[in-house]
Amino acid sequence: MEKKDLGHSTKCVHIGGRADKAYGSLVTPIYQTTTFEIPSMADFIDINVNGRKAYQYSSGSNPTQRAAEEKIAALEGGEDCLVFSGGMAAITSTISAYVKKGDEVLAQNDLYSTTNRFFNTLNEKFGVKTRFFDTTDVGVAEKLVNENTKMIYIETPTNPAMRLLDIGHAVEIAKKHDLVSILDNTFASPLNQRPLELGVNLVVESSTKYLSGHQHVVSGAVVGSTKRMQEIKGYRSLYGQSLDPFGAFLLITGMQTLALRIERANSNALALAKMLERHPKVQKVNYPGLESHPQHDLAKKQMTGFGGMLSFDVNGGVDGVIKFIDSLEIVKLATSLGGVDTILTTPYTAYSRSLPQERMDVMGITPGLIRVSVGIEDYVDLEQDFTKALGHV
Ligand SMILES: *Cc1c(COP(=O)(O)O)cnc(C)c1O
Repeated sequence: MEKKDLGHSTKCVHIGGRADKAYGSLVTPIYQTTTFEIPSMADFIDINVNGRKAYQYSSGSNPTQRAAEEKIAALEGGEDCLVFSGGMAAITSTISAYVKKGDEVLAQNDLYSTTNRFFNTLNEKFGVKTRFFDTTDVGVAEKLVNENTKMIYIETPTNPAMRLLDIGHAVEIAKKHDLVSILDNTFASPLNQRPLELGVNLVVESSTKYLSGHQHVVSGAVVGSTKRMQEIKGYRSLYGQSLDPFGAFLLITGMQTLALRIERANSNALALAKMLERHPKVQKVNYPGLESHPQHDLAKKQMTGFGGMLSFDVNGGVDGVIKFIDSLEIVKLATSLGGVDTILTTPYTAYSRSLPQERMDVMGITPGLIRVSVGIEDYVDLEQDFTKALGHV
């Protein structure tokens, strides 16, 4: 059986170099070493002069890290993968590999806020300009293309408004104008959306979130062709963004249950979204799986599941948010997303010092907005916790 023909649950469990030749350990060993002994000068010459592949220094590559990379590559349907010490590490290395002074980038205007900050930094410090367009109207991006444009960088669904970007349309523009296309797949995860199959060149993601899934490791990944991974790898070393072996181990074991976790998170999120939509204390629910989502048809077209992320507007603005959140018992107030626990945050207060009001407006952040990362608990318990807390609003 070809590895690429396996089902996603099977890939989660089985892909990625688990063969421990020394003792047959079923679990991928943690190769907690910085360096590797080279048996002889003949080998040393073969590796360094003739380019034979071998592990030499863990900042460059390590067998535990490699196992994580093989699993993520298989799940995203790409040739190869590199893992990093964080999602932002994957994003900054990947972008750095494809732009130089004078180049321009196209990107949507409501990107993950730190990525947006990176594009602004690139402009101010390194002379790489980004032209921003509206997420829901990617056709506009084509009007911004000029002879310096090299890249289109996108993200869907967005944080925290849960807007979608038409991936197929973005790919069409990228191909027509010979741009490298990069998509941040953090919110959907490869179980709900596989952008490489839709023609995107590179997928980046924060594996701190769904892939590892237990809020126990900060890490990131990029997936694409072998050639592109070689192009990006030098930047991972340059910036010192390699993932340590223990982090890679946590990522691997986390991913083994990814398919099951996503299945539960998807169904919990849909049920919760429907409940919230009917609730008198809730003004608006943003979830791609709801018929009321303005891009529900696009979600059905480009996603294989609607995901575990949703946001909603509670009555009463910040005051309503305070009353609601402080009345919750099971669901916790915590940043991040994609783990087994249902956690939530309120972007308006979270970003109060870092985002000016005009950025809040662009990103769809209202005072009453609550972003929920729905976990894998029993749905009835979540519904009870939400309903009870909404009663205090
Ligand atoms: C968290 C996140 C990142 C950054 O990842 P880190 O692992 O925190 O560095 C990038 N993009 C999205 C959409 C995220 O949610």
